[in-house]
Amino acid sequence: MQHYKMTIDGQGVDAEDKFAVINPAKGQHFATCALATLTHVDLAVKSARDAFPAWSQLQDSERQHLMHEIGQMLEANMPELTQLITQETGKPLNGLNGVGANMELMGSIGWSHVTADITLPVEVIQDNEEAYVQAYRKPLGVVASITPWNWPLMIAIWHVIAALRVGNTVVIKPSENSPLSTARFVELANQILPAGVLNVVTGFGDLGQALVSHDDVNKVVFTGSTETGKKIMASASGNLKRLTLELGGNDAAIVLPDVDVKAVAPQLFGAAFHNNGQTCACLKRLYVHEDIYDAICQELVVLANQVKVGDGLDNDTQLGPLQNEAQLQQVIALSASVESSEGRILAGGNRIDREGYFFEPTIVVDMKNGDALVEQEQFGPILPVIKFTDAEHGLELANDSLNGLGGSVWSANAEIATELAQRLECGTAWVNSHGDVQPDAPFGGVKQSGVGVEFGRYGLEECTSLHTLKVKKG
Ligand code: NAD
Repeated sequence: MQHYKMTIDGQGVDAEDKFAVINPAKGQHFATCALATLTHVDLAVKSARDAFPAWSQLQDSERQHLMHEIGQMLEANMPELTQLITQETGKPLNGLNGVGANMELMGSIGWSHVTADITLPVEVIQDNEEAYVQAYRKPLGVVASITPWNWPLMIAIWHVIAALRVGNTVVIKPSENSPLSTARFVELANQILPAGVLNVVTGFGDLGQALVSHDDVNKVVFTGSTETGKKIMASASGNLKRLTLELGGNDAAIVLPDVDVKAVAPQLFGAAFHNNGQTCACLKRLYVHEDIYDAICQELVVLANQVKVGDGLDNDTQLGPLQNEAQLQQVIALSASVESSEGRILAGGNRIDREGYFFEPTIVVDMKNGDALVEQEQFGPILPVIKFTDAEHGLELANDSLNGLGGSVWSANAEIATELAQRLECGTAWVNSHGDVQPDAPFGGVKQSGVGVEFGRYGLEECTSLHTLKVKKG
């Protein structure tokens, strides 16, 4: 059975203990990973700290060049990394609408190259006979990155490339549920980067907590649940670390009565069910106008019954298993909670009788705000559909949430939809699509879905501090 080590200060580092990594399509472990101790955390932070002066003083163009090299390295290692992602997450190689492990690699490559090319300009505020004043950006120091299990490599790339690009050094701790693609990525990246610039420690939440409370870490970038995000905010307060928190979403879509039902239903289905619903910005609450409610529900049921669920290593699988047993149990509990509501399950509703953590793609209609399945982020293949009477009513229901990651409005009239979308209480609002992020546009949550943004110029700025220089003249 293959064993994966950590990388600290440019070296492969093993631990005395190890933990098993499970393939969720089988429910059995297929690899092991080093279980770091607190000493490893200290060593990794020290190595990142020691590497910081030289890395931060490199020419910007040199760091750009190295980020492009990482993009090329990912491309050269695509087959190995996609296979690893499918084994550790259950995500299909190809997947529904092409959303799968191959896309995760393509996204990781694209994000590396686009981020490499973004620069943060110096702003000259005053330049006259009295003074020269400029505002400019400096790296923060050591960045701790903590990632979730759903898009392990892509989210690692989002954190790492932005932080390194502008001159920080990094210690990353991937999720204990899917640590392998990150461990391998960091090992490969260390063939390109100077020793200590990028380190990985592997283990559970206690290790993450040690890292985010470490006195020699300057910033934490975290993607994961809102509950853990709150703990991280508290742990990071000791030395006032900078924070970017990308937390849970409970995204609403509002479907207006003028849509072409047959054309829109597959898009809504894809937005809700890709990666088996286990994406932060999946569509998780579907609000449909009463005039087309039955027609949309009917189409969704057909799609749920047709979609091919199976082992992600099979090329034609569209949806895989839930990534872990706890997530499966959460979906089972939410499905059972429908009994105590007025909702009706029109497709699915049950665990699939086979090895692994499979659950039927499930459509639940006649749900209401306040029902558990509407209030909580399901993070699985079960979609509540809620009826509304007019656009303002739809908007009110959509905004009635503690979360605010993404949201969308669907209509044949883009102008009306845009006006409504701008009033959605979320970080990103889409019109006639949902969840499509891009490396040059900011992405982040409002309300309890996060603090700060990633991507593009705005994301890079969050990996820096803003400084002012004033040179008196005359
Ligand atoms: P999680 O919060 O359980 O774990 C995420 C990471 O935090 C893991 O590496 C874990 O080991 C670590 N961790 C746990 N306790 C910690 C602590 N006290 N201190 C420091 N680190 C700790 O999340 P998950 O179950 O892995 O991921 C699913 C969640 O992530 C969902 O809520 C989803 O919406 C969210 N998510 C958000 C985004 C986004 O961009 N907003 C993207 C993907 C996933």
